[in-house]
Amino acid sequence: MPELPDVEGFKRVLAKSALGKTIDQVVVNDARILGKLPARAFISRLNGSKLIEARRHGKHLMAHVDRGGWLTLHFGMTGALQFLRKPDNEPPFTRVRIDFSDDGSLVYINKRMIGRVDLVEDAADFVAGENLGPDALDRRFDFDAFRAAVFGSKRDVKALLMDQKVIAGIGNIYSDEILFRARINPAERTDKLAPSQLKHLFSVMRKVLRTAVARGAGSEHFIDRLPEGSLLPERRKGGRCPHCRSVLKVFKIGGRTAYCCPRCQKC
Ligand SMILES: [Zn+2]
Repeated sequence: MPELPDVEGFKRVLAKSALGKTIDQVVVNDARILGKLPARAFISRLNGSKLIEARRHGKHLMAHVDRGGWLTLHFGMTGALQFLRKPDNEPPFTRVRIDFSDDGSLVYINKRMIGRVDLVEDAADFVAGENLGPDALDRRFDFDAFRAAVFGSKRDVKALLMDQKVIAGIGNIYSDEILFRARINPAERTDKLAPSQLKHLFSVMRKVLRTAVARGAGSEHFIDRLPEGSLLPERRKGGRCPHCRSVLKVFKIGGRTAYCCPRCQKC
């Protein structure tokens, strides 16, 4: 399931391969993935225009259209974005394809159809409308802002980290990695964390996400690129803690599966 590091990877694909190129043709294979805009209007607004800037907020990718507005992409559970030199070998589950006049195509793939492709007028209004909290890697989101966002919450710390309204970008998978690295029990109530633990959690959160982005690791793809001692390559039934080799404990928090080390995280 794409999380901040995956979407940052999609942003780089878009920035490297698609910016500044004239859109020659837009193909919507399945209009159910679009927002309110009908397919015909979506296509005609993009045809002949260029994408000139790529931005990410949490798990949302946005691309500025030179004639006005923003293309928005959300990847849900199974979404991905690829750039293909030759569009004739379109991958399965391609829902939207953008062909460029000089060469290549941007393809939005989504097997399970949870996600959305849309055009909106303004990026900041879009982020506000989606009720997204600050992006987990936004420079302005410092420890004071983090503390203010989570302070006094009685919720499990894992559920809080995954709440896009509080912090945007972290999902089920990276919340496990962050809490493992911070040696915090995912089921711990946030307001029971000591101030030093909260500070540590914030710095670990940034470090884990920055490292994943820098190494090109995702939530399910390229997890072998994560540094030694990471939880994710062991995050499966019967997996062992990379630190103490205890068998990982698996349980549900807020309907999501949490993996943690019973010894290192006291869970
Ligand atoms: Zn352990």
